[in-house]
Amino acid sequence: MLSSEHVPSIFFNKSRSIDETNLYDGDIDEGGANKTPYDIIEHDVTTLAKANNLPPPDSFDALQLGSERLRTIIAALHCNILVRKEDLVRNLDYIANILEAVHQDETRRLMEEDDGALSEIEPDSVPNEVRDWLAMTFTRSMSTIKRRPSDKPKFKSVAQAIRAGIMVDRYLRRLSIDIKFKTINEWTFDVFSVNEFTSGQCLRYVGFELMQRYNLPNKLHISITALNNFLEQMESGYSKYRNPYHNLIHAADVLQTTYQIIYNSGLMNWLNDHELFAMFIAAIVHDFEHTGTSNNFHIQSRSDVALIYNDRAVLENHHVSAAFRLMRIDDYNILSEFTPEEFKNFRHLVIEMVLATDMSSHFAQLKTMKSLLSMPENIEKSKALALVLHSADISHPGKPWSIHYSWTESLMEEYFKQGEKEKELGLPCSPLCDRDNTLVAESQIGFIQYIVEPSFVVMGDMLEKILKSLSVPDSELPSPSIPAKSIASSPSPPPSPKSSNDSNHQHDEDNGRERKPSSMTTPLPRLTIVRRPWIEYLKENRERWIREAEEEKRRKELKVIEEEP
Ligand SMILES: [Zn+2]
Repeated sequence: MLSSEHVPSIFFNKSRSIDETNLYDGDIDEGGANKTPYDIIEHDVTTLAKANNLPPPDSFDALQLGSERLRTIIAALHCNILVRKEDLVRNLDYIANILEAVHQDETRRLMEEDDGALSEIEPDSVPNEVRDWLAMTFTRSMSTIKRRPSDKPKFKSVAQAIRAGIMVDRYLRRLSIDIKFKTINEWTFDVFSVNEFTSGQCLRYVGFELMQRYNLPNKLHISITALNNFLEQMESGYSKYRNPYHNLIHAADVLQTTYQIIYNSGLMNWLNDHELFAMFIAAIVHDFEHTGTSNNFHIQSRSDVALIYNDRAVLENHHVSAAFRLMRIDDYNILSEFTPEEFKNFRHLVIEMVLATDMSSHFAQLKTMKSLLSMPENIEKSKALALVLHSADISHPGKPWSIHYSWTESLMEEYFKQGEKEKELGLPCSPLCDRDNTLVAESQIGFIQYIVEPSFVVMGDMLEKILKSLSVPDSELPSPSIPAKSIASSPSPPPSPKSSNDSNHQHDEDNGRERKPSSMTTPLPRLTIVRRPWIEYLKENRERWIREAEEEKRRKELKVIEEEP
């Protein structure tokens, strides 16, 4: 039974109590024709007593029901309709539970939002340092970089940016734990095993590692998302024709070798961040979408690219052009924050470097550099970097035998495949492309002796001349400069322990992760001798091929004797 003493006086202005029968059937006025707002509220009040089968407070349905009941209570208060105390308490209690559940849920959501997709990373999978780096990259790129009004946002979305960051982190984490990557500063870096442990993605790993090592994405405001996308596209471009040799492993190899040369020689100090970046990108793109066939094959078969580039540096033009066309697309645009001047310089350097990898310009390039070496003037950066890239491109005979041998096998296989294509097309078989008649050992001896060795001699001399120009004023630069040396007759003296330590010091003192600010005005120790680790390997490999050639010859002679009747 209800009575007025159960409810506070505020409910009593209309001295009407709620009929017990109305509480449960809800049928006040069947016809509804005479219903007043008061009747409707009074009817709604009866629902407050219905406590069975209420949805759980943390469910979505509870939100709607709770707000309806709260409105009923307010309306009843306004109209002085009596509500039973226990119904009032039970309903207010239920509504309070709903609000608490909403609050908890919302707090959790906000926390997750703050953390973003970073929360997807397993706590023990990413070092704190990397997390900090991610957060720093994200914040800087979103708020502190001045953006021109016409520029599009750096990242398409927060989620996308963070996803890219997570990928970078995964790369870095794997890189940091793998001992193989510790040799990235070494001439003997084994790109094949790195390719294996990165599941065939060594180009993007080496690319990211080097960019990060010099903090280039941050310094040059390069979108991590775009860089990630760009490197992925590079890898797929290199995989397009399934080349045994001109594939993403070769690109990663040339990238690391280029880096090793400028790191080891100290040429790094001659380059600003934009030039270093251009050097890396040139190495990365230098054989992009290589068809596994030579320029001559394109010219002879009158391919589309040969027609586009009028038979001149056909593939090299394609590599660099295709890469720049890719960078024009927002998703792959790693240059979006470059000023027009920076873009112009970057483009000039990359074009110069990649076009100079055209083997047909090899002798002209060496001749030009030799004459520059004999003059007192400083060497033009684009020419110097172009020779470094070209040398790195043909460097495998200067690497340890196992690495060099693998490259030789791959290159020969690619040549033989071209030979087969030429046969199919009725074209004459190109030199070294006949699977049945090529003397592999002999070809390598010639390659080392006439191409690789002379290139590395000139490049080594060039590096020394540049170093000299960095360490002494131009006026003191001797003229004519260092004469080109022959590896066989006068190998470079090994660096003194002191100078070798000095040359590594600036990289080692901070784990090689960060270099000293580079500029031409940076005072440098008087280091003018460049370590030339390739000399020994070229010599060893050549001797090995000579032995192989003798055996090859013996095998052939035996075969001839066996075949005689
Ligand atoms: Zn190449």
